[in-house]
Amino acid sequence: MPATAELSPARNARPADDLAPEGTLAPPLTPGPPSGWNPQQLVTALIVFGPLAAVLAVALGFFSRRITLVDLCLAVGLFLISGHGLSAGFHRLFAHRSFKAARWLKITLAVSGSLGLEGSVNSWVANHRRHHAYTDRPGDPHSPHRYGAKPVALLRGAAHAHIGWLFHAQPTEEARWAPDLTADPDLVLISRLFPLLGVASVGLPMLAGWALTRTWAGALGGLIWGGAVRIFVLHQTTFAVNSVCHLWGKRPFLTRREDRATNFAPLAVLAMGDNWHNFHHASPRSARHGVDPHQLDSTARLIWMFERIGAATDVHWPDSETVERRRVVLPSVNLMSGTSFPTPVVE
Ligand SMILES: [Zn+2]
Ligand SMILES: [Zn+2]
Repeated sequence: MPATAELSPARNARPADDLAPEGTLAPPLTPGPPSGWNPQQLVTALIVFGPLAAVLAVALGFFSRRITLVDLCLAVGLFLISGHGLSAGFHRLFAHRSFKAARWLKITLAVSGSLGLEGSVNSWVANHRRHHAYTDRPGDPHSPHRYGAKPVALLRGAAHAHIGWLFHAQPTEEARWAPDLTADPDLVLISRLFPLLGVASVGLPMLAGWALTRTWAGALGGLIWGGAVRIFVLHQTTFAVNSVCHLWGKRPFLTRREDRATNFAPLAVLAMGDNWHNFHHASPRSARHGVDPHQLDSTARLIWMFERIGAATDVHWPDSETVERRRVVLPSVNLMSGTSFPTPVVE
């Protein structure tokens, strides 16, 4: 008997707080091959592979200078600022409206998230909302299940979900998917300033390295560690949420029928709580993703602090009844092993 047969109607109900009902906002895009390189894709390649080149250069010993305390502080500090700008700002505030933010906080989170170099806030949100509307179905911009369930197809899908999708010509209309953001002059301006913020993301740590050490070596250290290496780690973490967190991990909560989002614990620190992706897909508007004991979610803690000082209001904290209503008992999944996927059928 399939697991779903034992589920109550309430459990079978589709999560009520999804931002985008399935298939109502836009026709699903049919998967297709890359349609040639254009200038935007070249910029994307620079942003994605530039930091990788810097990391390889460091690993191969091209920079003889060892990492200093200043380098480390710049890297960790900017990682936390840009990472939480993405998780608390781009993701939970702007994409899912998990809380309302005072204007200064909204602007701060939009700018700090832009320093993560993952695209402008409006384009990021538009793509992410499309991901939730069509999760793991045609139309999802970055599903690892795009090419099928066989091991080779899943490997190919994992590469697509991790990086490949960034180079596929699947434009997501911001006005259609994020009309609330395109109507906000602050966010429109910050989106337009994204190229400048991108330059600042690598220029600021370089300047800070120089200011703190008064040496060109200090400036280079700031550029490499606070800029390139920090951006590389941040990118790979976000990419892993798109790929790994739809392939490996636990699925303790009920999601839509095709939705294969998982909780992948090892990413908790780097992803700042966004790795509890199964619960997030089960309850997208929740301001907390790590709802079980010992599930680290620094983003939820940050939102809690903003709420304490009155900068965040109407925070959608998940209550225990909501959490338990979405909970199902399913085995862990390892889709790369070729085992069949134990997703319950939700009709
Ligand atoms: Zn989301
Ligand atoms: Zn997802």
